[in-house]
Amino acid sequence: MSKKEELHPCVRCYKFPNEKDKHCTDCGAPLQNRCSDEPGLLDKGCTFLNNQNAAYCAKCGQPTLFQLHGLITPQYKFANNPVFSGESNWVKVFGNIK
Ligand SMILES: [Zn+2]
Ligand SMILES: [Zn+2]
Repeated sequence: MSKKEELHPCVRCYKFPNEKDKHCTDCGAPLQNRCSDEPGLLDKGCTFLNNQNAAYCAKCGQPTLFQLHGLITPQYKFANNPVFSGESNWVKVFGNIK
């Protein structure tokens, strides 16, 4: 397969990016709708590259970068709510696991 990754215009301002750009150089929006599950020290993360219209990762169900940046909104009111507004929310959701 010699086909390059397809380039899409920025979803926010429609600027066409350069081939290797990961963020829009005009408005800072992410250009690839990757999973928000970044690799950490202990886990490999997901970083799955989703469709441009995916609000949640097709692989693991975490919110996608586009959703976290407010570029797309989930279609369903009762979809998983992102819990990235602060670390303390994780404690509330999962309790004090020690
Ligand atoms: Zn932009
Ligand atoms: Zn994922």
